[in-house]
Amino acid sequence: MTTTTAENPAESHVFEADVARLLHMMVHSVYSDKDVFLRELISNAADACEKLRYEAIATPALLASDPDSRIVLTLDEEGGRLLVEDNGIGMSRDEMIEALGTIARSGTRAFMERIEANKQGEGAQLIGQFGVGFYSCFMVAERVDVVSRHAGADNAWLWSSDGKGGYSVSPIDISEAPARGTRITLHLMDDAKSYTSRWSIERIVKEQSGHVPVPIRIADKPGAEPAQLTDGTALWTKSKNDITSEEYTDFYRGISGQYDEPALTVHFRAEGRHEYSALAFIPGSQPFDLFDPDRKGRMKLYVKRVFITDEAELLPRYLRFVRGLVDTADLPLNVSREMIQESAILSSIRKGVANRIIAAIEKLSESDNDAFLKLWEAFGSLIKEGIYEDFERRTQLMALSRFRTTASGEEGYRSLSDYVKDIKEGQQSIYYLAGNSLEQLKASPQLEGFRARGIEVLLLTDSVDSFWVTNAPEFEGKTFKSITQGSADLTQFSKVEQGTAASETAPAEVQAFIAFAKEKLADQVSDVRASDRLIESAVCLVAPEQGYDRQLEKILQGAGRLQSGAKPILEINQDHPVVKAVAAKSDQPSLRDDAAFLLLDQARVLDGDKPADPRAFAERLARLMERALQ
Ligand code: ADP
Ligand code: MG
Repeated sequence: MTTTTAENPAESHVFEADVARLLHMMVHSVYSDKDVFLRELISNAADACEKLRYEAIATPALLASDPDSRIVLTLDEEGGRLLVEDNGIGMSRDEMIEALGTIARSGTRAFMERIEANKQGEGAQLIGQFGVGFYSCFMVAERVDVVSRHAGADNAWLWSSDGKGGYSVSPIDISEAPARGTRITLHLMDDAKSYTSRWSIERIVKEQSGHVPVPIRIADKPGAEPAQLTDGTALWTKSKNDITSEEYTDFYRGISGQYDEPALTVHFRAEGRHEYSALAFIPGSQPFDLFDPDRKGRMKLYVKRVFITDEAELLPRYLRFVRGLVDTADLPLNVSREMIQESAILSSIRKGVANRIIAAIEKLSESDNDAFLKLWEAFGSLIKEGIYEDFERRTQLMALSRFRTTASGEEGYRSLSDYVKDIKEGQQSIYYLAGNSLEQLKASPQLEGFRARGIEVLLLTDSVDSFWVTNAPEFEGKTFKSITQGSADLTQFSKVEQGTAASETAPAEVQAFIAFAKEKLADQVSDVRASDRLIESAVCLVAPEQGYDRQLEKILQGAGRLQSGAKPILEINQDHPVVKAVAAKSDQPSLRDDAAFLLLDQARVLDGDKPADPRAFAERLARLMERALQ
């Protein structure tokens, strides 16, 4: 709808229905972070400068009079206004009507539907995460005037709107317009007057638009000489050779909020079907948010050097310790969350960046073992999540992993390749013992038989360990086996130090005691049997062959994911003096009864647990002590 009169050349237009809806949403947005409007205006201004640069390739005259692109922000505290001006391509009258009166962008409608479907919740946040463009300035302005002169044109136009029902377009004298480009004047709402404060505008620009490829200047009041805020070069667009390690470190600190040195810097440009640049850092120490339950990544997505979102999940979750950004020109600036999730370029980025990061870690492990182990100590537990989650890279991540083992010494680490290289003849499994602390694991009775035979056991103390071992079918042909589950089958391996030769089968007395204990303890254990994994200790508990390993069961129970555990198996060391002594007392059933229960509780305590019935335990112990002390 257009109305023009001879006296007033302004044409009034009504917003397209979708624009009206979008504006309504903006103005009534419960979204508190309105700062994003500035990012939108600056990114439009930068786009306009880049478009002009492109046009000038064919028509150099367009740039000739004023070759340097710039964006100028002018604060007008007295007038309650903020001005955003660029010397980019500008808009003709028709372009203004098209660009500022309709919604041409494909993602926006889907975006709006999403917001409307979800009024209170996530919708409000989406506005902040994904720019909805020019109209966001109506979150802070009660009137917006856009004056524009298309590059090379000899006329200029004023677009003006209060963001309610429509807008007007009128010709304007070129002396009142920029020589080239667009000036947007925001008449700020009362509660948005702080956008005339230099301090807050500087902060917002540095935070949101610090890497926009056009220099940004700021003037304290209309007519004042503007000062430079940003220089318009994005670090990651420079060639690696032109970037000093100090520059990388500064940039890393800015993007990660960490104050250390990065452990690893990965900077590359991918070319081919999809083009993008990535600049990623592995922090020098653990960031505090690594174990947040949301396991969110912190990689930022830029499109054409404009920050889009840090929620794009540019890396697999287990690489969430990596900080940095990816910049691509292959996505539209107003990309929505759905588009991000579904786009082919994003999956290609996800794969490419993860590959490069893992390759860089591998390389570090070969070139600088100390630095690698430091990285491993900080982030190894996350990398191991990848063995569980990242099917494609499982073998690669297993090869990268380092472990404390019974053969690693106090400070050292072993890789799975080390393990397999030194494996015993005939040994089919990589044995592991999982628990909460290294000290506890080293004291485990279950280890004794393995130690005595010189069989290496991985000592796993991260909770993720209990999961990936069940999910990693093999490494170099060897399967993973918990030493607290099922039978140990150690008899085929001879002991390194031949002590008193262990009897092959338990003597009849001991067998009788085992049968006795099995009956007595039937409520608490699924079996009692002679053990080949015990040397010094009298007893230990193991999990049945089927089901969960003891540690995994504890973790699952602790997390409320398992109601009750399987009944464990009590293994008895037939050569242990206590076992022999009690087996000999077949004529004293009450003593054997106490001994059976005490042996079970002893195994529990060795496992880091409590006696099942503390009172009964104390009474039995007291009875035995009394006898011994009499
Ligand atoms: P987008 O930037 O994603 O296209 P916007 O809502 O931010 O969407 O802007 C809509 C359109 O308005 C732009 O595509 C552009 O054509 C035009 N526009 C906005 N600001 C400017 C500007 N400063 N200079 C030239 N054109 C502009
Ligand atoms: Mg835009």
